[in-house]
Amino acid sequence: MPTVNTVSGPVDTADLGFTLMHEHIMVQSSGVKENFPVFDREAQIDKAVAKLREVMARGVRTLVDLTPADWRDISFVKEVVARSGMQVIVATGIYWEVPHFFRALSTRTPEYMAELFARDINEGIMDTGVRAAVIKCATDETGVTPDVERVLRASAKAHRATGVPISTHTDASRKVGLNQQDVFESEGVDLGRVVIGHSGDSDDIEYLTALMKRGSYIGMDRFGLDQFLPQEKRVSTIARLCELGYAEKMVLSHDAACYFDWAPEELIPAVVPNWQFNFIPDVVVPALREAGVADEHVRMMTVDNPRRVFERQGPY
Ligand SMILES: [Zn+2]
Repeated sequence: MPTVNTVSGPVDTADLGFTLMHEHIMVQSSGVKENFPVFDREAQIDKAVAKLREVMARGVRTLVDLTPADWRDISFVKEVVARSGMQVIVATGIYWEVPHFFRALSTRTPEYMAELFARDINEGIMDTGVRAAVIKCATDETGVTPDVERVLRASAKAHRATGVPISTHTDASRKVGLNQQDVFESEGVDLGRVVIGHSGDSDDIEYLTALMKRGSYIGMDRFGLDQFLPQEKRVSTIARLCELGYAEKMVLSHDAACYFDWAPEELIPAVVPNWQFNFIPDVVVPALREAGVADEHVRMMTVDNPRRVFERQGPY
């Protein structure tokens, strides 16, 4: 049976179960908590463990932590996983605001970056013993700038060298998922091994079907962030795409985090109360059923499709 590397070791893909495909354990600005007294590590570990246990009690077995390397803290994730028992798959890769380190064009080439990503996947992240099993990359409001393009090419090369899937961040309103597919295709990537993330921020059926017709999965993965698209529209868009025969190409998630340092902690539940891991099992799944989505399609989007994403393995 194929296995996938999680924080706690290899797991049979048949045991992934209900999987949230784009979440975060911790999103933290590099260098801040190491240099200012703004982070209570023990308290945040307790809170993160409690959040994961709550969603595990609702039947979620696996969470894909798509935090890129420039925002992550693997030792924190490792401790949260050990104490909660959640199956967590972590990512390698770099965000769209490319760190200056990777802008030294002559030496830090896409090939150089790809080697670093492949090391995370094949050997493990630094000395943590944790191996990444997905590559994250991102294109946002600035589109495919030269820096972003180099990271997309590095991600494609690392994907082909290691065989682990690519899962992206996009600005869906600017339809940049198609631009990502163009870059990947030019690197010889099989687009069926790519998840174009944050597609659920759009209700443009033509755009969404165009992404899937090229073979990719799409992430309907920002439930709870109504400012990008309200919950009702997210649900009706999925229901429409299921009617059109695309249930086997969608995955679900919130893009939520146990700890997210871009906003004061107390503001998050006040401003976006549904942006948390329990929202899909508690509210979205029943809403999808009410909108006419068959149980079989709900299962595809939450269990079967994630499994298939991680079962396509091997370099090429
Ligand atoms: Zn994210």
